[in-house]
Amino acid sequence: MSLSCFDPRFGERMLSVDEALSVLGESLAGVMRTPRSERVALAQAPGRVLAETVISPLDVPAQTNAAMDGIALAQASLPDAESGEPLSDRGELSDHCQLIVIGSSLAGHPWTGRALAAGEAMRITTGAALPAGADTVVMQEQLEYRSAQGEGRAEGEAGERVVIEGVTSIRRGQNVRQAGEDIARGSQVMAPGQWLTPAAVGVLASLGLAEIAVYRPLTVAIFSTGDEVTAPGETLPAGGIYDANRFSLVALLRDQGIEVLDLGILSDDEASVSAALRDAATRADMVITSGGVSVGEADHVRSALAACGELALWRIAMRPGRPLAFGMLRAIPADDASSSGQVPFFGLPGNPVATMVTFLQFVLPALRLLSGQQRLAKAEASASATTLAQWQAPRLQLIAGETLRSRAERVDYHRGQIVLDDQGRQVVMTTGRQGSGILTSMLLAECLIEIPAGCATLHAGEPVMVQWLGSRGII
Ligand code: AMP
Ligand code: MG
Repeated sequence: MSLSCFDPRFGERMLSVDEALSVLGESLAGVMRTPRSERVALAQAPGRVLAETVISPLDVPAQTNAAMDGIALAQASLPDAESGEPLSDRGELSDHCQLIVIGSSLAGHPWTGRALAAGEAMRITTGAALPAGADTVVMQEQLEYRSAQGEGRAEGEAGERVVIEGVTSIRRGQNVRQAGEDIARGSQVMAPGQWLTPAAVGVLASLGLAEIAVYRPLTVAIFSTGDEVTAPGETLPAGGIYDANRFSLVALLRDQGIEVLDLGILSDDEASVSAALRDAATRADMVITSGGVSVGEADHVRSALAACGELALWRIAMRPGRPLAFGMLRAIPADDASSSGQVPFFGLPGNPVATMVTFLQFVLPALRLLSGQQRLAKAEASASATTLAQWQAPRLQLIAGETLRSRAERVDYHRGQIVLDDQGRQVVMTTGRQGSGILTSMLLAECLIEIPAGCATLHAGEPVMVQWLGSRGII
């Protein structure tokens, strides 16, 4: 492995989060393969990653149609504002005019007769195709229908007339949706790597596509470590703690469309951890453990990893989450090109908040990269494809609603909630106690307040950056 925390570039100092992300990005670039793909029904596609380029087979909308209920007409057949045709009995200029209605075009039942001529109009409903000869729709509220015999509504009657109010304000093309105005036939709509959001599957459906090629989901093997760690449902022994991490991690992974191999809880024993790592590396695209990576007595994950792979980085200037192991496990080379023979490994710290926060900073960006996702950034503004920072939660600037303190030499991620202050401004407050074992702080968190290294105190009222946790499902 080319880089580690002992890389000469870094000396023995701790890595910043950004440095760790770039080390990670470089390491993953070496094992990245385009995932295999499969075809799925569109209904199964949400939460998957598109594996093909989508070119539109049609114009959307397919035909020029009305955006309102009313009448369709040719704007040129109306009296214009200057010359205003005298319509009233007294010969005054009027903002009214009267047209002959020759039929109707309804959504799903387009007009199939002749084109509109000057002085003619057609009843039309929202979504109905515009008849030939029409270019404009006037909405119902501006209209009054008259039968051939006299005043009053006379729907569908031969010789029906319509009086239009506000003629001079009618603009050519108003209330009309042009064929292809959303998507033009032959244009590229999506590229491989598109995360299939609700909007994305809606767009694919609007093209008439019933099936789509998506990447196969990554499989991630996960286990907890620790003699004290006990599965929920079992009796808690003296000195035991229930296994929270496996459940929050499985949930975070599933949220990303990942297939999870849940390998349970391992005791603090190097032989069993290394056997489990070896086994997991043959079955998964990534292996994640929690616990056992600090410089304590029972740090078997680190030594187990050294026995079956390579350790890449280790101490990060962040809280919570300073101890973090990243490495590559040797896998039995698979027979397909989607395997590099190396399986990324994350050893996350055991404290439940640290587990989640390090997952969000490092594992989530890595998973998005490896799952083949591409950002839809504008080309001129987009980072290189392997830059992991682009996959972190979006950062927003808010106002601190209270004074926040941090250890100056590392970035602190306080769990935050956005509240309205007494002036009605949105400000961010911590969720309360911030220990890395206080998992209820994550329960309450809408964002992570980022107090940068070098900043010991952030005063109430000062701007502060937060990582928003809402966009991709963690809340
Ligand atoms: P470790 O990183 O193994 O030193 O663990 C740090 C702290 O996190 C200890 O208090 C552990 O008991 C706790 N811990 C480790 N794994 C888990 C887990 N899966 N669920 C809840 N707490 C854990
Ligand atoms: Mg432990």
